[in-house]
Amino acid sequence: MNGRVLVGIIVWVVAAAAAVGLMAGRPLLRRGARPPLAGATQSVFNDVTGPETRSVVPPEDRASPATYDHGGTSRLAILLTDPNSPWLGLAHGLKAIGIPFRITTDYHVAIRHRVILVYPMISGRVLSRDALVALAAVPVRGGTLIGVNVLGGGLNEVFGFRDAIPSRTRLEIRFTRDAAGVAPAVAQDGLIRLGDAAQGREPIGTYGYTDPRALALGVYEDGSAAITYRPIAQGHAYAFGFDPGIYMLRGYNSRAGGANVNRYDAGTDTVLRLLREIYLRGEPHAVTLGAVPSGGALSVLLTHDIDYNKSVENSLAYAAYERSRGLRATYFVQTKYVRDYNDRAFFDDRGVALLKRLAATGMEIASHTVAHSRAFLTFPMGTGVEAFPSYRPFVKDRQRTDGGTVLGELRVSKFLLEKLVAHQTVVSFRPGNLEIPVALPQELVAAGYRFSSAATANDAQTHLPFQLTYGRGFSSDTPIFELPISVEDERGALPLARVDQVIDLATRLSAYGGSLVVLIHPNVVGDKLEFERRLVDAVRDRAWFGSISDYGSWWAARNAAEIDVTEAGANRTVHVHAPGRIDGLTLTVPAGWRFSASAPGTVPVKAAKGVMILGPIVGDVALHFQQSSHDPAGNSR
Ligand SMILES: [Zn+2]
Repeated sequence: MNGRVLVGIIVWVVAAAAAVGLMAGRPLLRRGARPPLAGATQSVFNDVTGPETRSVVPPEDRASPATYDHGGTSRLAILLTDPNSPWLGLAHGLKAIGIPFRITTDYHVAIRHRVILVYPMISGRVLSRDALVALAAVPVRGGTLIGVNVLGGGLNEVFGFRDAIPSRTRLEIRFTRDAAGVAPAVAQDGLIRLGDAAQGREPIGTYGYTDPRALALGVYEDGSAAITYRPIAQGHAYAFGFDPGIYMLRGYNSRAGGANVNRYDAGTDTVLRLLREIYLRGEPHAVTLGAVPSGGALSVLLTHDIDYNKSVENSLAYAAYERSRGLRATYFVQTKYVRDYNDRAFFDDRGVALLKRLAATGMEIASHTVAHSRAFLTFPMGTGVEAFPSYRPFVKDRQRTDGGTVLGELRVSKFLLEKLVAHQTVVSFRPGNLEIPVALPQELVAAGYRFSSAATANDAQTHLPFQLTYGRGFSSDTPIFELPISVEDERGALPLARVDQVIDLATRLSAYGGSLVVLIHPNVVGDKLEFERRLVDAVRDRAWFGSISDYGSWWAARNAAEIDVTEAGANRTVHVHAPGRIDGLTLTVPAGWRFSASAPGTVPVKAAKGVMILGPIVGDVALHFQQSSHDPAGNSR
């Protein structure tokens, strides 16, 4: 449809506005005379139409475990016993926590590693007799064997329990006193919530191990063991009675149910930190990737949603403060050029002028849709040719919106922000009301986005970014990374009243490099800006600050980075492969390693106690260390 055709209820004032605007020599817009009753006006910008390119949703490309089937024996080996399992969730989780891993379906390959995780089950149905015998020998000769869903094959004996009893109603795993001995920092989390009736979270299927002769690190409410640990000679055997892949993927796909915010409920991070502890205990050459740029304790991402007319001007007060502290925040802007049930059109002449001032402060400008509709979840995908000004979503009330499409919301808002406001490509998106259509990940790809901040951390069960799957499903990847929201300002008590609670959360996240994504609506300044000030002051000494695109870009480059370790006598070499340029890549190395040199020698390296900060780097870098003689086993961590 020609964008200049006047249709339906839209009052269209192209001619007059264009004439006035051309004379004034500026991009212009005019809102029409206030129409009667249900009428809507639309902002008009002279000569601005587009985007002209078509958004094409890519076809689904099924992920293959073979993508991860490479790397040296210092990595965690995942022996995949069922390729149709939700292994992709486990792969995304291990990437997030920074454990180097290899996925193999060949047990001969797996048993060359010192730490082996058998996933998603151990049984005589999925493993040959020879494979079972070889796995049983792993802990005996000093290795670490982690079994997920140990259902037979004669290995119950190795792990040390009698039976595995299935259930679909277990709601939680509580850490025991024994867990405090094995992984004290993780055990402090207290429990992993598998389901929550009050939150509408369906539990996942689990196995409870009975009569454990091993230690029970975690128990279900029925008393059976969820996680067992048995030291065997110099080796270790752990059995998990739940599938970490399905548990994580359900959270990552925002399908776990429950969307509470503002309290810590990140079971995925607890599981990943436990796996990291087990890897560190079992692999003397364990080198892991930190989640925060340049060795920070946590990442803090200040974000603001501009979805109300007064927020446009108020945002400048936040940006002025942030700039004064040298911080870069993200402003998700609704390009609201249609007056409707929600509000007047504030993406107009005046709004654009204010937003240009906002962009000039250096803040990230991101999209917060066109319509901010509560019906976004039910919008059709659209054609991929939606364009301004003919794309005219109209919110009629809380339930109904006419003329909206997902692709229209994504591409038209991005186009207008790039054309009229930002001196940058718009790469980050947050939907109104945090509604996440099932196909949103691939639709974000189609529209040219890279980052999403749509889920709440407690819904996603994690305070770490993660890669989104196609159709929020189980089988395929997209290149989009999600940065879930840890703190928001509209549910529960006013933010200033809970600033101490938020600072406590920041402290918990500092234990493992979590990211604190903070959403503050600039609908008011006063108390909310004071909340931001107090939070920044409280965490400033330990936090890394950045925008969604700053952190997302860094995270994507880190996600592609690979780590291997080789040894020759007392020499240890860490091989870093970074396909994309990254600055501030942070490695945790075993205690007792002394850094001697890098190759190439020009690579900027900062060596602190047990931590190496690299960069900027791209390509292959080798880091040489000497193992201290007083600590030959490298186990002094
Ligand atoms: Zn909003």
